[in-house]
Amino acid sequence: MHDVLVVGGGIAGLTAARDLATSGYSVLVLEARDRLGGRTWWKQFPGSDRRTEMGGTWFDEGTQLNIAREIQRYSLPTVLSPAGQDFRVSLTGRSLPRSDQPVPREVRPDLDRALDFVVEQSRRVTFGSGLDSPDIRDLDIAFSKFIAPYAHPEIVGEYLSMWAAFAFGCDPSDVSALQVLTWVAGYDNTVWTLDDAPATKFAQGTTSLVEALASDGGAEIELSAPVAAIADTGSNIAVETAGGEIHTSRFAVLAAPVNTWRDIDLPVPADSLKARFAQEGLAGHALKVHALVDNVPEFLMASGWGGPLCWASEQANFDGGRLIVGIGADDAALDASDPAQVQAALRQWVPEATVRACHGHNWSADPYSKGTWTTYRPGQLARYYTDFAVPHGRLYFAGSDVARGWAGFMDGAIESGADVAAALSRLLRDD
Ligand SMILES: Cc1cc2nc3c(=O)[nH]c(=O)nc-3n(C[C@H](O)[C@H](O)[C@H](O)COP(=O)(O)OP(=O)(O)OC[C@H]3O[C@@H](n4cnc5c(N)ncnc54)[C@H](O)[C@@H]3O)c2cc1C
Repeated sequence: MHDVLVVGGGIAGLTAARDLATSGYSVLVLEARDRLGGRTWWKQFPGSDRRTEMGGTWFDEGTQLNIAREIQRYSLPTVLSPAGQDFRVSLTGRSLPRSDQPVPREVRPDLDRALDFVVEQSRRVTFGSGLDSPDIRDLDIAFSKFIAPYAHPEIVGEYLSMWAAFAFGCDPSDVSALQVLTWVAGYDNTVWTLDDAPATKFAQGTTSLVEALASDGGAEIELSAPVAAIADTGSNIAVETAGGEIHTSRFAVLAAPVNTWRDIDLPVPADSLKARFAQEGLAGHALKVHALVDNVPEFLMASGWGGPLCWASEQANFDGGRLIVGIGADDAALDASDPAQVQAALRQWVPEATVRACHGHNWSADPYSKGTWTTYRPGQLARYYTDFAVPHGRLYFAGSDVARGWAGFMDGAIESGADVAAALSRLLRDD
């Protein structure tokens, strides 16, 4: 009998396990995959000794204080992504000349008006709390609907679609404007951090954080142990793996992605908020591709709307080629391992680009994520935010998907894992 069983060895589960184990409690982490890290994965690029981040990558230490704390704690080296130097933009089916302006100069006032509106509305949001407040319920609508009065001329509308799709990994009609505004509020009510993306990443990959968390505190970890059922007897928890192993504990933490909850037999009533949230699922299904490319300009930074990719930038160079990372709104739009398809997508910006090798991971088809990063559908914050941190009996919930602050980021996973561990430490002490 362990004190706590943690289901899921992503950053949230490992943070909770580390904090509980360092407080002296016995912890067992059950991880479905044969590796730790969940939606972060520093994986070898085909045919090279380089590694690329298939999932979570960038952060902003100035505003994301949970990840900044862990970086300091373990002295993890970080590195800035290269800044863009050759800007390309493809909107309304055309390749447009761009210096460092996001849209042609003549429509910049229209874009400014739209973004001013976004910033003004973000001031109604308190980052990290009260996202279910009736005062801001009018913001919990599709981002496409929220921005529609400002989304013209067409080129501005497309730029805004690109902006939201790049950040949230779905069509702008599938993400709540309230979540977009929360991120803007989190970046101190500025929009440009979101446009550029937080640019810092781990020099030794996200693996460096994952390994630091996993090896600190002494929690036991079992890989390739997908959990099929969790039962709460009232006095303890019994967890059964797909292989039929049964583990018992005083408490459990479910730290698997929300989109996978419905595959686990959970001790929550079918009409509970947790069950309904799991049934609806989150909307993010981004495409992320990594390609070693020839004939691209140095430090390409490209954005656009209409093709499979809405953003692409150089992240490194090796073997004489440039490693371009691209993001799109729909992981079904192309096969990230097919050089011909990736090349065609990149050619919207650089017609002479030639892809040598490429790879990606379809996180939506992966049974242990069933989606990419946290993207709340319109109305979900109003319906479920209150319930995010609420345990059900002896079962607690953690993960970036249910974080109060930077949900969708690694920072949110750490925040949520640490919060659950703090709550359980208090309970275990008193129990
Ligand atoms: C393509 C992509 C790009 C991203 N980009 C960024 C970025 O640039 N910056 C950033 O901060 N964040 C980014 N993210 C988001 C970030 O990676 C996640 O928010 C974060 O890693 C989530 O951590 P987690 O622990 O909450 O969940 P996860 O990492 O999903 O961990 C959950 C764990 O539960 C396991 N699991 C699932 N089902 C079961 C089961 N039945 N039994 C046992 N275990 C199970 C999974 O295998 C997984 O290991 C990105 C994500 C993706 C996919």
